[in-house]
Amino acid sequence: MRMHDNPTINYPDYVWPEGKRCAVVFSLDLDAESPFLWISRGQTVQHLGEIEQRRYGPRQGLARVTQLFEEYGIRGSFYVPGVVAQTYPDLLPFLLTRQHEVAHHGYYHERLEAIPVAQAEAYLVQAQELFLAQTGLRGLGHRAPSWEMTPDFLRVLARRGVSYDSSLMGFDHPYQIDQLVEVPVQWMVDDALYFRYTNSTRDKTHPANPAAVLESWIEEFEGMREYGGLFMVTIHDWISGRPQRLRMLRKLIEHIRRDPQVWWARADEVAAWHAQSPNRERFQVAAQGINTHFETEKD
Ligand SMILES: [Zn+2]
Repeated sequence: MRMHDNPTINYPDYVWPEGKRCAVVFSLDLDAESPFLWISRGQTVQHLGEIEQRRYGPRQGLARVTQLFEEYGIRGSFYVPGVVAQTYPDLLPFLLTRQHEVAHHGYYHERLEAIPVAQAEAYLVQAQELFLAQTGLRGLGHRAPSWEMTPDFLRVLARRGVSYDSSLMGFDHPYQIDQLVEVPVQWMVDDALYFRYTNSTRDKTHPANPAAVLESWIEEFEGMREYGGLFMVTIHDWISGRPQRLRMLRKLIEHIRRDPQVWWARADEVAAWHAQSPNRERFQVAAQGINTHFETEKD
């Protein structure tokens, strides 16, 4: 038996609409200053360096990214923390009038694994109420801050009427985890890894050369195209709204556009496709943590 014939070792190919070969989603996590607020919670912060760098996002970066998307007719998926929508109340309506998707991304960009699930649920409800007040929409999608998730919170999302999640990486195309459709992300195609730099101790590297990142992302797109997966790009308002990265994004878009076999979609459309397609029955997993209370050797 070839490995491909065993569905528990190598899953069958994913089916895209209209016979397309792969899908592309451009997503933007509209963090602005929210992760800084979360990390500094309980303190009064007066040093403006990182705060102003992040506010560049809603002030300038976002408009430039959406303008670029508009030039190419791209409708993106925008994940917005509650506190960002609250601080900049024009943001969600602005995105909706341009046919973009808006979805949840925590309230204070809280890390789900670091707080009790009841608190995480309270933040989700607070965000849902705010989004409903600002847009009239409910049942939106969700992406976890910093892409961390717990089995308990997946259950909360399903119970609170969230339409899909986009935080995990268990397949390179959509799948079902417990009750929820998962539209997977991946670190390799996340701008923060290469360009996030705030001159703080949390920085891992200096900003990368966009030409090298472009080459890497094109390779990933070509590979994903070969395997028929989802090429999910994740960028940030305050990181990719900068000129050299916008130029890089334009080149990436130009490259992908040459391929007529690509399905350009928003993440909510990808999730909806998954839920009503034959893929639904084939890619289902249970959300299970790992029990590490195995017996250890005593010296
Ligand atoms: Zn984020």
